[in-house]
Amino acid sequence: MSLIPSCPEVREHLTDYLEGTLPFRKRLGIRIHLLICAACDGLRKALLALPAFGRKILEAPAEPPREAAVAQERALERALERIAAGPGKTGPGKTGPEN
Ligand SMILES: [Zn+2]
Repeated sequence: MSLIPSCPEVREHLTDYLEGTLPFRKRLGIRIHLLICAACDGLRKALLALPAFGRKILEAPAEPPREAAVAQERALERALERIAAGPGKTGPGKTGPEN
């Protein structure tokens, strides 16, 4: 087992890393990985930009909050209705300058 973890390992433990709950050796490995891996470092920045509430949702994808699930369903229904209505009926009118 090498000191520097792989991308999947880093992503799996990234929230723990940000919360400082990982053992020193693991934390160090992830820190080094983040220095050399732009993809994982970008994910770290995205997680930092989220409020703690959002991070909890990402940690527990098996059971999303009911309100969020209902909102997603409604959004999906509306999108499907718009698709079913066909083109030309979705916007306020064809007033754009493009042809
Ligand atoms: Zn990576």
